[in-house]
Amino acid sequence: MTALLASTAADPRPAGRLLVVEDEQKVAGALRKGLEGEGYIAVVEGTGEGALARLTAPGDTFDAILLDLTLPGRDGLDVLSDLRRRGIATPVIVLTARDTLDDRIVGLDAGADDYLIKPFAVAELLARLRAIGRRGRVTDVDRLGLDTLELDRASRQVTRAGRLIEVTAKEFDLLHYLARHLRQVVSRDTLAREVWRETARSTTLDNVIDVHISRLRRKIDLPGQVRLIQTIRGVGFVLREDTE
Ligand code: CA
Repeated sequence: MTALLASTAADPRPAGRLLVVEDEQKVAGALRKGLEGEGYIAVVEGTGEGALARLTAPGDTFDAILLDLTLPGRDGLDVLSDLRRRGIATPVIVLTARDTLDDRIVGLDAGADDYLIKPFAVAELLARLRAIGRRGRVTDVDRLGLDTLELDRASRQVTRAGRLIEVTAKEFDLLHYLARHLRQVVSRDTLAREVWRETARSTTLDNVIDVHISRLRRKIDLPGQVRLIQTIRGVGFVLREDTE
């Protein structure tokens, strides 16, 4: 998962797209500034409801979430449990106060990947983000999948119901991106940027993406199997069980 490695001067691509869920404007502003200085795109939400709305909206994906636990309305743990219940596996770093050790433990139980005790240095946060970028989620370091589909990141192999499926390098990257953002609708814009490394959208590229999606679908969704690659008309694609 190279998306979370800090970008260098020679590489103008963002280091990663982060959602910062923090109600204290001062803290949120400082975080955003620090992260943007390191090449990340940081989007701030001040409430748990706002964060959930954004995370479940079609076409909006994040590489990691920084989640404050004490939020007005739905608190951070509630948001975290809800996300994991919905099958959204985006890495989460919980931000918590020193005197709430229990929160910290509960946060990890509820599906957080890491935590930071406030106040913390931005450098420490960057180190944690890089670590998450290197290892992916603890539970799926090497293997991602859905239904009988499995992707092995190390060997770049794809199997469905135990049968090896031959995919090209680009098809693997595409499927891996969808699998990392399981059950989240991913737009063509996002795929162009994250998989094809193109910043400008074009009709030609849209067609290329569509062709790759159809090829993958023919290879992965065989007759009699649960269909996993869904097209959301006018929005993009999502890897999830067919709900029809
Ligand atoms: Ca707070």
